[in-house]
Amino acid sequence: MKVFKFGGASVQTVERIQHAASILKSYPNEKILIVISAMGKTTNALEKVAEAFFAGHTDEALKLFEAIKQSHITTAKYLLVTHFNPLMEQLGHFFTEVEWLLHDKPVREYDYYYDQIVCVGELLSTAIVSAYLNESGLRSQWIDVRDIFRTDDNFRDAAIDWNYTSQRVLEDIRPLFETAEIVLTQGFIGSTDENESTTLGREGSDYSAAVFANLLDAESQTIWKDVEGVMNADPKQFPDAQFIAELNYEEVIEMAYYGAQVIHPKTIKPLQNKGIPLLVKCFLDQNLPGTIIHNKQVKGLPPIIVLKSNQALLHLHSKDFSFVGEKPVADLYQLFTDIKIKPNLIQTGAVSIQICLDDRADKIEKLALDASDFFEVQVEKGLTLLTVRHYEEPVLQQLTKGQQIKLKQQTPQTVQVLMQQQ
Ligand code: ASP
Ligand code: MG
Repeated sequence: MKVFKFGGASVQTVERIQHAASILKSYPNEKILIVISAMGKTTNALEKVAEAFFAGHTDEALKLFEAIKQSHITTAKYLLVTHFNPLMEQLGHFFTEVEWLLHDKPVREYDYYYDQIVCVGELLSTAIVSAYLNESGLRSQWIDVRDIFRTDDNFRDAAIDWNYTSQRVLEDIRPLFETAEIVLTQGFIGSTDENESTTLGREGSDYSAAVFANLLDAESQTIWKDVEGVMNADPKQFPDAQFIAELNYEEVIEMAYYGAQVIHPKTIKPLQNKGIPLLVKCFLDQNLPGTIIHNKQVKGLPPIIVLKSNQALLHLHSKDFSFVGEKPVADLYQLFTDIKIKPNLIQTGAVSIQICLDDRADKIEKLALDASDFFEVQVEKGLTLLTVRHYEEPVLQQLTKGQQIKLKQQTPQTVQVLMQQQ
């Protein structure tokens, strides 16, 4: 059995959905579980709906949602003939669920509403693609993954309940393959034991696919992307980025951790634990070999470059010159957990700590305020964090030219530089 994941860009248009079907046709007689993301930029658009709703702008939220609805209906119209009406009925249920909610007034926390609204993107895309596969003769079984993936209620970053979920996969998903060749479901979403929808974190569909691959003991997982495979840098930032044919799990987990937009960081563990290879293949040309990620040692990698812009640097200085010992550091980590923020870089000195974080204004303010109980706090913004793995001095020189260096951390494998354009 194989697990495939098609990202939002691979199901963005009528032509791309048709193309996805043609890829599937080239795997006849294979059992494939397919995980799909929301179409194109739908998740971003749904985030805007959630924001408008939570701000009390019901009309605006409804209007924004109407546009999302119409674009999905239009796609379905172009794709389908015989399967159009039953699909519209199915989509109708999803639309109504959201619209009812939008007519309410928010009484719970934002993250809860976010998940109830945003999860619909994956439900719509998978329903449309499944209808199209069935109409074009590829029999597929559509599954609402919220009946399978049980999570906790940490909305927007929910954690999978592996025991319950593995039971569901064993009892409800495995038997489907006795008759179906293709089982198709949503990435990114799940549900609590109270049937509230949850999401697993932005770009979480790769991870959903890996959870399925693990629980189904798949022979491989393939992520179909609109690039040739994994590159040593983001080709949008570095036009001469190089393709990498082979990587090991550890390298990829490190790259993702440092912010490379290759694969969701949580994806590797479920695959590594069962030794399942991950293939990153080109959606537009399936004959290209793509990148294979597995357990083997890989030598001679090029420098791997990750640039994260929009960084903030917090300078914390002990108020009375007492040392920054275990207690204040432990308190600080507790704050990170409470505020749900993950530092990208930390450097500790005798009486000071420097922390680099993604600049999420609300969170940085809260952190600065709470930390000011124990520290003098200063914040700098508009910074860029450069990470280079397997660095060579000339590359580093070139990447930091004309930049003012605020902070630098270096190990034999990895160098990180927080910098500001001069
Ligand atoms: N649709 C979700 C997102 O855009 C999940 C994913 O694409 O993996 O974040
Ligand atoms: Mg995506």
